[in-house]
Amino acid sequence: MEVFRELEPLREALRAARAEGRDIALVPTMGALHAGHISLVEAARRPGSSVVASIFVNPRQFGASEDLSRYPRKEVSDLAMLADAGCDIVWLPPVEVMYPAGFATNVSVAGVSERLDGAARPGHFDGVATVVTKLFNQVQPTRAYFGEKDFQQLAVIRAMARDLDLTRPHVDAIIGVPTVREADGLAMSSRNRYLSDVQRAAAAALPRAMQAAVAAIEGGAEVAATLAALEAELLAAGFASVDYAALADAASLAPLAALGEAPARLLVAARIGGTRLIDNMAVNAAA
Ligand code: AMP
Repeated sequence: MEVFRELEPLREALRAARAEGRDIALVPTMGALHAGHISLVEAARRPGSSVVASIFVNPRQFGASEDLSRYPRKEVSDLAMLADAGCDIVWLPPVEVMYPAGFATNVSVAGVSERLDGAARPGHFDGVATVVTKLFNQVQPTRAYFGEKDFQQLAVIRAMARDLDLTRPHVDAIIGVPTVREADGLAMSSRNRYLSDVQRAAAAALPRAMQAAVAAIEGGAEVAATLAALEAELLAAGFASVDYAALADAASLAPLAALGEAPARLLVAARIGGTRLIDNMAVNAAA
């Protein structure tokens, strides 16, 4: 496994891989890797492909009051996990390589970026769209892998790739990978490390209450009442606040007052102590 911290040597290695007929798959991450990230690397691995994982804690997607400075950094164990998973290349740019002095461009996807996490975290998805555009241009993958854990992020990237014609020739496919969960259902996240033992135990209420809400909505329960009950259950379980609990169209993330024919998604962001957890689940229309 090769590790690059400068753009030109990375591009040289990618040119060499392409010259050998290998296609390039990209897995963007912010490091502090867990089994969820590794599932993306495993999905990306194919005979004849080179897998590039990027590790970059992107300052532009953190708000002023967010956890950029305390975000976990685990470079040594991340590299060991990526090597074990069969990753070929790690792209580890320092901030000044990604954003040299004078960097002035912003990529912003209207609509899908503005709701839910976009409303709760102003500027967050602009930061994501900007860095992912750069990663696509730097690596020029034919496939790029993103977790459904960050479902709105996946929707923003799909919209951006379509709008900016990033899907050809550079990226043929944006591939969403199902969320990997702990034994008690909590979605794996680098931020779970912030939780105390008591908070960690309480956090299992999030997937449990969401699953109950999915079943209720699929069974015909009224959406607004179900979402209110979900919120109350989280607060009773020890969550400090709920940023949002919403049923949304799975493609546009526009809010849905009732389940229709189109695929829908239940999305929740809630805080436990100082930690903000997000999760989402598919909601299927009645057969
Ligand atoms: P992050 O390092 O949090 O930016 O995540 C990097 C990528 O891994 C994103 O595409 C995430 O959606 C994905 N990811 C994070 N957690 C999980 C998980 N539990 N299951 C699957 N994918 C995940």
